[in-house]
Amino acid sequence: QAKQLGRNRYQLFDMEAAANVQHHHQELERMRRALQHGELRLFYQPKVNMRTGEVIGVEALIRWQHPEQGILAPAEFLPLVEQSSLIVDIGEWVLHEALAQLAEWSQQGHELSVSVNIATRHFQHIDFVARLQAILAEYPGVAPGRLELEILESVALEDVEAMRAVIAACQAMGVRFALDDFGTGYSSLNYLKQLPAETLKVDRSFVRDMLDDQEDLAIIEGVIGLASVFGKEVIAEGVETPEHGVMLMRIGCDHAQGYAIARPMPADSMHDWLKGFEPDPRWLLGRGGQGE
Ligand code: C2E
Ligand code: MG
Ligand code: MG
Ligand code: MG
Repeated sequence: QAKQLGRNRYQLFDMEAAANVQHHHQELERMRRALQHGELRLFYQPKVNMRTGEVIGVEALIRWQHPEQGILAPAEFLPLVEQSSLIVDIGEWVLHEALAQLAEWSQQGHELSVSVNIATRHFQHIDFVARLQAILAEYPGVAPGRLELEILESVALEDVEAMRAVIAACQAMGVRFALDDFGTGYSSLNYLKQLPAETLKVDRSFVRDMLDDQEDLAIIEGVIGLASVFGKEVIAEGVETPEHGVMLMRIGCDHAQGYAIARPMPADSMHDWLKGFEPDPRWLLGRGGQGE
């Protein structure tokens, strides 16, 4: 009896699993069509140097301009895509789009750099370096040093030797690296020493609570301390209020990004935003700004 029951359960499970697989398959087909039909967009969020108030660059953030549902955030469609090889096609589209946009801003007199998020599966693709090189070659007006790749701290952890080689090959072309969501992975200090990324990007969960939570503040201070020892830059993401900015400035954070500065915006809004932007003078206090 029990055996019979067990078998039925498995059958039920198999049917559910099969239905899920089919659902995923359809969703992926939808995404593939979205890519082909030009429904994907990049929004851009500025990053600011807290010492000088200068806009140092932008992070490209993908959106899906869905024909019925409006603009969808990556959380609504990327997790599934990241499990499939479609993430490589979408990732390459993002690189093309971001570099073309940089070239256009250059012509308008804005010398920005762009950070592009690279999914783990894309970064681990066997041809990653060669394809990146080919893409960069299509934009001779854009120096590779103006492209930064944001990878997760955990990527470099999975296969340290192989990933280091890929990072080093990209850096040899001039491309820079940031470790995104830094602090949420499990970097050992020894591993940090080997890590070739130029920038550590403090995860926004620490920034969110840093004003009330001594431990989160201590983690950010720790990252800043480590970064300075290892010669890396630190950017804080999720800087939502001026008070966050002031605290980050006090503890010596180099760069900031978040709603307190600007929300992610379409490329056409960037020109006007750049013209109107004035850094919060409180950030510059004590850093060669007004206060000194
Ligand atoms: P992320 O790279 O850590 O990006 C930061 C996220 O925080 C973005 O969400 C951004 O809109 C949001 N954000 C920025 N400032 C603030 C703030 O002050 N407060 C709060 N609460 N949030 C803020 P978004 O655009 O929804 O992207 C989510 C994630 O999706 C990204 O996290 C990144 O991991 C992934 N992603 C986005 N675009 C791409 C892409 O083109 N390719 C890949 N592979 N992943 C992407
Ligand atoms: Mg990012
Ligand atoms: Mg992040
Ligand atoms: Mg994040």
